[in-house]
Amino acid sequence: MDKAELAGALGSPAAFGQSQFAFVRGNAFEARVKADGGTELLRLLVERLGGGTEPPAAAVVPDLTAAGPEGRTARTALALREATAAGEWALLDHPMLVLEVAGSPAYLEPDAVVVHPDGTWTVVEIKSFPMVDGSADASKVGAAARQSAVYVLALERIAAVTEGAEVGHRVLLVCPKDFSNLPTASVVDVRKQRAVTDRQLTRLTRVEDIAAALPEGTTFDPGCSPEELGTAVEAVPAAYAPECLAACELAFHCRAKSRADGAVESLGRSVRGELGGLTTVAGVLAAAAGKEGDPADPTVAALRRAAALRAEALAGVSGGVPCH
Ligand code: SF4
Repeated sequence: MDKAELAGALGSPAAFGQSQFAFVRGNAFEARVKADGGTELLRLLVERLGGGTEPPAAAVVPDLTAAGPEGRTARTALALREATAAGEWALLDHPMLVLEVAGSPAYLEPDAVVVHPDGTWTVVEIKSFPMVDGSADASKVGAAARQSAVYVLALERIAAVTEGAEVGHRVLLVCPKDFSNLPTASVVDVRKQRAVTDRQLTRLTRVEDIAAALPEGTTFDPGCSPEELGTAVEAVPAAYAPECLAACELAFHCRAKSRADGAVESLGRSVRGELGGLTTVAGVLAAAAGKEGDPADPTVAALRRAAALRAEALAGVSGGVPCH
C-alpha cells in the first residue's frame, strides 16, 4: 500500500520528505558528481579506497533502462556480471536491486555501484548534507550506513552467483565539501550495519503470515472512511518510537495512537529499555509515587528514589509543595 496516501486518508498526513528546493539541489549535486562518465566520482573512489591504483580515465556506463522494476533488476544483474567478466571499471548509475523482505520483494535503488577491474563491487551513496573538515553529522552518516548496508546485502545475492565477484563492505559516501558544491568523499565501513540488518531480516514475520492473522475483509483502501481505516491499521501491531518520525509516513498517526495509549515507547527506545516491565506512563508515575509496583524491582526502586530526590530538590527551591 501507499503509506503516504493511507496517512492522508487517516487524517494524519505525513510531513515527510525533502523540500522541493533541497530535492533540486540534491539532484544537481548528484549530476555534478556523476558528470563526464563519473570521472570525478572514480577519482574520489580510488583516492579514498586506496589500493595504489591510478584513477581510470573512463569507465563503462551501461544502459540500465528496462520496463518495470523486475526488468530493471534483471538488467542490473546482467550489467554487473558482464562488467565483472570483462575485468573493467564500470559505473552503474541508479541500478535496481531486489531484496526479499518478510517474504516479499523490496526494490532498492542505490545512487551508484562501481565495479572494479578485480571484481569488487562498491556501493556509492551521494548525499547533500555537508562534510565539514572531513566529517559530517554522525546521525546522518549512520543513516547512510544503514541504507548502504541494505544495498550491500542485495548485491551479495547477485555476487553469490557471479564468478569472481565480491561485494565491498566499505562504501563510498560522497557529500558537498564545506558547504560548497564541490564533492568530497569518505569511506564508511558497513560490516556492523550489514550484520544487524541481516539478522533483522531473518527474524521478520512474513507478510503472508501477518495478512493471514488479520480479521476477514480487512482493507487499507484509502477510499474507506478514516474510522474504518483506523480499525484496519490497529489490527496490525505497531511499535512506535520517535525514530519513526524520520522514516515512516504513518508516524503522526502512530504517535497519536501511542500517546493516547500512554505507551512508554513514545518517549524513546532507550527510555523504554530502562523501564523494564513498566509499559505505560501511568504505570511509571504510579510506581514512582509508591502506589503500585514491587519495591524489590530495581526499576521501581530507582523511580521512587528519583521521585524522592525531585521532591526534595523542589522543596529546597520553592520551600513549598513539589509540583508534578
Ligand atoms: S510503528 Fe513506526 S514504522 Fe510502524 S507504521 Fe507506525 S510509524 Fe511506521
